[in-house]
Amino acid sequence: MKPLIVANWKCNPTTLEGAKLLFNSVKRGIQNIRNLEVVICPPFPYLSIINNQLSIIKLGAQDCFWEERGAYTGEISPKMLKDLGVEYVIIGHSERRKYQQEKDLMIYKKIEAALKRGLKPILCIDKIPQLPSFLRKRGGRRGRNPLRPKKDLEDVIIAYEPLFAIGTGKPCSIDKAKKMRIAIKKKLNKNIPILYGGSVNSENARDYVKKAGFQGLLVGGASLNAQEFIKIVKNVSEA
Ligand code: PEP
Repeated sequence: MKPLIVANWKCNPTTLEGAKLLFNSVKRGIQNIRNLEVVICPPFPYLSIINNQLSIIKLGAQDCFWEERGAYTGEISPKMLKDLGVEYVIIGHSERRKYQQEKDLMIYKKIEAALKRGLKPILCIDKIPQLPSFLRKRGGRRGRNPLRPKKDLEDVIIAYEPLFAIGTGKPCSIDKAKKMRIAIKKKLNKNIPILYGGSVNSENARDYVKKAGFQGLLVGGASLNAQEFIKIVKNVSEA
C-alpha cells in the first residue's frame, strides 16, 4: 500500500471560496506526486464541489451515520457519501468523542455501515482498549464490541492519535509513537495500516513514516495551510 496522507480540515474553512482556494493550491502543489495517496476530508457542504475537481487527490468525509436513510435529522449516510465519490471516512475522532459524546458502540456501528457501502473507515484511537474486538486477534471484550462486520476488514485503517498531541503543537515523540504502533499492530488480527496523527508538521512528518514505521499520517491544523501541507506530502514522498 502507498503511504496515505489524510488532511482533516475539521470545521474549516468557513466559506466555499476559501475551501476552493485551499483545495486548488494543494492540488497544484502535489500534482506530480505519484507514490502517495492523498486524501482530503473537508466539511460535508464542500464534498460535492471538491469532488468535481478530483485529481490524484481522493475524497474523505469526517464522519458518517450508521443508518442508510430515514428519519434521522442532520445525519449523513454512507450511501450519500459514496454517491458523491467519497472513498474514505474518518470515524471516532477524539473531537467527536469529546463534543458529540460518541461512544465506542456508535463508532463500531459507523465502521460497519461504512464498510457495507464500500467506504474505507479511518478509525481514530488514542488507546488500545478502543480497538473493536472484530479487529483483534483474540476477540477482545465482546460485550463492548458485539458487532461482526461481514465486509472486508482489510479496508479498515487505524489512526493512532494521542490526545495530548491533537491540536496542541506538542507532537508525540517518534520513539513513543513507534512503540504504540508496534503495540497496536500486535493486537490486530489483520494487516491493517496504522497512521499517526497529532501535531504533524513538515519537520516531523517524514520521521513518523520513515523512523516510526507508520503507513501514513492524519494531519489536522497543518492541512489548512496549503504550503505547509504540500511540504508534508513532498517530505513523505521523498522519504
Ligand atoms: C486531527 O485532527 O486528527 C489532528 C491530528 O489534528 P492536528 O494535526 O491539528 O494535531
